[in-house]
Amino acid sequence: MSKTILLDKRPEGKPTKSDFKFVNETTPEVNSGEILLKTHYISVDPYLRGRMRDVKSYIPPFELQKPIVSGIIAEVMESKNKDFSKGDFVSGTLAWKEQQVSNGDGLIKVDAERAPLSAYLGILGMTGLTAYLGLTEIGKPKKGETLLVSGAAGAVGSVVGQIGKILGLRVVGIAGSDEKVTLLKSDFGFDDAINYNTTDNMAKAIAEKCPDGVDVYFDNVGGDISDAVFYNINKKARLVICGAISVYNETELPKSISVQPFLIKNSALMQGFIIFDYVDKYPEAMKQLGQWLGEGKLTYKETIVEGFEATPQAFIDLFDGKNKGKMVVKV
Ligand code: NDP
Repeated sequence: MSKTILLDKRPEGKPTKSDFKFVNETTPEVNSGEILLKTHYISVDPYLRGRMRDVKSYIPPFELQKPIVSGIIAEVMESKNKDFSKGDFVSGTLAWKEQQVSNGDGLIKVDAERAPLSAYLGILGMTGLTAYLGLTEIGKPKKGETLLVSGAAGAVGSVVGQIGKILGLRVVGIAGSDEKVTLLKSDFGFDDAINYNTTDNMAKAIAEKCPDGVDVYFDNVGGDISDAVFYNINKKARLVICGAISVYNETELPKSISVQPFLIKNSALMQGFIIFDYVDKYPEAMKQLGQWLGEGKLTYKETIVEGFEATPQAFIDLFDGKNKGKMVVKV
């Protein structure tokens, strides 16, 4: 038998465990051209919350009573597909199942000798790509500029800040606890950081920590935190809109400030993106990330939660900031 996690109900507000359902299935049979996969690591990501809503987006919504899918690292247990052998490890967008059958489409083999398997869901996966390509393609960072990062102690944010430092910028992070503020400076090399949970006036705090203004803002959270940034942007600033986790659970989108006057008077650029926009640039991004990792210029953190059953809670915990770096479930 093998367990599967289905979306039982569409969450209202913050997801709860009752929105998910566990079912037992018999281990699937492997037909010609197929492989049997055993899940080792599951990526839980804030964007999955958007797929739980029944609305049109860049990716179709999850269907009720069907498995959730996300980035997964799995081991090939049996192969009737010439491209895969028993014992291979693969990465791909797969179902929240302990075991599943695949025809191999969209799966990439990963090298367990080169890096810990979980890293292929983070720094050597979507997280690293999002950080590198969002920052370089839209942020266009220049040496000596100031980079401000929200969600800075998370998977994407912690990598963005480090890349900013490698490229010679002054980097300031925004995160939700004093522990994270310390971590940003001690482990990720940020020049300074702000705890938004203990700061009454974010616009003032940003002005103090970014005395030369903000040239590049990498936004992972949206909402009030990002509203405060507009008061501090410089002429020709670039605002990279990567995520808006602060509003993902809202049933009605909160009102925010009018951003147009800030963009106009500063000739600033604000651009959203989806990492899939840059598929053609994945190889060069991976090469650069791998090189910096190998040279020890880049580091990463993971919050690894143990056990398949813990997957829904690990996902929910993202919205309470329980993770430092990439949140991953080890099955
Ligand atoms: P993280 O590892 O950053 O985890 C989420 C973090 O968000 C939490 O740790 C928490 O940190 C913070 N957070 C939660 N609720 C709030 C809130 N109300 N206000 C402010 N911060 C909050 O996740 P990822 O690095 O995987 O993703 C970061 C962002 O990037 C997300 O918004 C995600 O959707 C987006 N994303 C976008 C992609 C794209 O293609 N555009 C691709 C991948 C991710 P804290 O303790 O600091 O509050």
